[in-house]
Parts: sequence; structure tokens; C-alpha cells
Amino acid sequence: MVYPIVKFGDPVLENEAATVTEFDTPELHKFIEDMFESMYAAKGVGLAAPQIGVGKKIAVIDTSNGEDPEAKLVIINPKIVNVEGKQDGEEGCLSIPGFREQVRRGKRVTVRAQNLKGEAFDQTGEDLLARAFQHETDHLYGRLYITHISALKRDLMKRKIKKLQRAGDWK
Ligand code: ZN
Repeated sequence: MVYPIVKFGDPVLENEAATVTEFDTPELHKFIEDMFESMYAAKGVGLAAPQIGVGKKIAVIDTSNGEDPEAKLVIINPKIVNVEGKQDGEEGCLSIPGFREQVRRGKRVTVRAQNLKGEAFDQTGEDLLARAFQHETDHLYGRLYITHISALKRDLMKRKIKKLQRAGDWK
């Protein structure tokens, strides 16, 4: 099932999500399947549960855009445990469509998370994957990428979004 993507302005995006405590249930399996389906439908490389209105610490990532089944990652209750180097690049978010900004992130990042069965693992990614680990983990703590841009740019973006909201073009 493809869920609609929640847009900026909905409080679910700016609150810390709840820790997942039950694993390997049919509901969780189905939910993860739906998350991948929703992410591919929206043409994203990552999706966090709050973006489909569910306040739980679950995110899915596929930096291959569905080309490589091995690239499919599920991170539950993730934490960033190591960051090395820096990368500058454009970043966008499915919940803030139509906007992109330069965001500085770590270049090589290790995430510690649990899988569908609740088993803990560490995974290190570079470049786009490192960016996705940081972007999605941020989501689960209620932080959007726009918290990493200048206040000036952020205010400008928020004003543009308000205009879209008033015109009924932000749903
Ligand atoms: Zn996002």
C-alpha cells in the first residue's frame, strides 16, 4: 500500500518518534513493505515513518532507486555513532517538495540500528548513503534538513511554503 507523504507543517515531522520495541511481527513486516512501496512511488532514496504519519523510529533507504535489491536497507531505532570528514551537496526531502538546498554532512558515517528481527548492527556508508543515514536518522528525532541551513534561507523557504499553503497548493 502506498501511503501519501506528509508535508512540512505537520507536527509529526518535528516531534521525536517513539522507539520500536516489538520486532518480527507480521504488522512490522507489512509496514516496512509499505514504506518501500511508498518511497519508490515518491521517487525517494530514503523514507522515515513520520513522513507517512507514523511516529516510530523506522526508516528505509535505497540509494540505488530500486535497481539493486542489496541496496535495500531498513534501520530501526538508528543512532549515528561515527562521523568522518565532510561533504557539501544539495539535499531535498519528500516532505518539502520543490525545494533543495546545499547541506554540509559527514562524508563517512556509521549508523547503529536494529533490523526487522530486532538484531543490532552497525553499518558504514559514504557519500550519498552517509547523507541518507544522517537525513533519515534526523527525521526520527524530529529534525528536518532545513535545520542545517542558514536561518535566512530557512525563513525564506518557510515564507514560500506559507504562500503555497494559503493558495491550497501544499497538501
Ligand atoms: Zn526527508
